[in-house]
Amino acid sequence: MTGDLLVQNAMMVLPNRIVEGDLRVSDGSIKTIAAQGGLVPETHELVIDGSGLHLLPGAIDPHVHFRDPGNPEKEDLESGSRAAAAGGITAFLDMPNTIPNATKLTVLQDKFRRAASKSITHSGFFIGATPTNLDDLIEAVGTPQKPDNAGVCGIKIFMGSSTGDLLVHEQKHLEEIFENTGGIIATHAEDENRLQSRIAEFSHRSDIAAHAECRDVECALLATKRASGLAKDYDHRLHIVHLTSGVEADWLASNKGNLITTEVCVQHLTFDQSDVEERGVRLLMNPPIRHTEDKDKLWERLKDGTIDCVVTDHAPHTLKAKSVGYPKAPAGMPGVETSLPLMLTHAMDGKCSVSDVVRWMCEGPTKVYNIENKGSLIEGYDGDLTLVDLETRRTITDADTWTKVGWTPYSGFELTGLPMWTIVDGIPVHSRTKNGSFKGNPLVKPGQTGRSLRFR
Ligand SMILES: [Zn+2]
Repeated sequence: MTGDLLVQNAMMVLPNRIVEGDLRVSDGSIKTIAAQGGLVPETHELVIDGSGLHLLPGAIDPHVHFRDPGNPEKEDLESGSRAAAAGGITAFLDMPNTIPNATKLTVLQDKFRRAASKSITHSGFFIGATPTNLDDLIEAVGTPQKPDNAGVCGIKIFMGSSTGDLLVHEQKHLEEIFENTGGIIATHAEDENRLQSRIAEFSHRSDIAAHAECRDVECALLATKRASGLAKDYDHRLHIVHLTSGVEADWLASNKGNLITTEVCVQHLTFDQSDVEERGVRLLMNPPIRHTEDKDKLWERLKDGTIDCVVTDHAPHTLKAKSVGYPKAPAGMPGVETSLPLMLTHAMDGKCSVSDVVRWMCEGPTKVYNIENKGSLIEGYDGDLTLVDLETRRTITDADTWTKVGWTPYSGFELTGLPMWTIVDGIPVHSRTKNGSFKGNPLVKPGQTGRSLRFR
């Protein structure tokens, strides 16, 4: 479904400037951007008054775990995409560690069907690598000579154990995959051997500070270097997911070249060791939240362009599952509905500019994954938009969330930049008012809006 819509008098965040004006979407695509305003509504158009709001391209989150199929108590494609829409995100890329794991095309085709009937935003899906599924990977993404991605955004390799049982860490298996597949490989870079020996070493510790000490920077750096070496040896595109350490960021600044991209999670730009002490297992994730100096370095390397995009790694677990405490609590936290407001809050607090946030959360993911016609306000691009309020600040609590797990790691944070409208292909899918409920209102039924993303 596509729509016709006119946004009037909004501060439009265009690729090179921010200017007040009007934007028209016809049949789902951005038709006219009028920097001086003055577009006259047509009879069939929905008109949105953008006065006092900033108009951004819909954000794209290329790293979520929507748990569908397998863990409906944590999330599914309906609840996850609603949470995304409430946060101004109009497209997501979902990771393969579902039940069953998405390690072959038939499982992915089932996910496409689920998304078509449940998601309200655009969607894309990773295929997961195992030591033995090379043929399935090739079927899903093609070969280096003939890449053919069947709607699959890339291959995800867990080089170190995390949540779920997908793991490829032996050199010969990694080489096979890098040598014989097309498209892009996204790696969770933690070194499995070092990880296992350290987990044994730290088994007597039950204080949460042990988490970052155990899964240390060296674990991450070893795997990042190893994956980068494979990318160069086999001339393969590589994306290193959730960069967490200043050391890795510095190393990539001088070694990433043209083949390698990387991302940082909002939580690693926001939290450090003292927050982990304070908020406990809610902030438990892999790789861990690290130290103030890592956080500062990640900001520096984001600003200088070493880091290509900002993501969430939205990985919800129920509070009941978390309640067993460290070290038994599962790693991962929700975030898809707070990422854009949180980054805009950082912008309004002077950490960066609103245009930076658009570059990192809208445009960046389209460049990394070669997503067509999205991520910028450009005539001819898709009509995926969000109108955010940068004038009001509101305090978020667990009760304000759409994620099925019903909590947020940012509970108690005062946020600005809440989306008043989120629009997919010219159709409003979620709305809020400045004084209405924090959660706002869903405007479409499951499956009514959103399509499978296309990757060049
Ligand atoms: Zn993840």
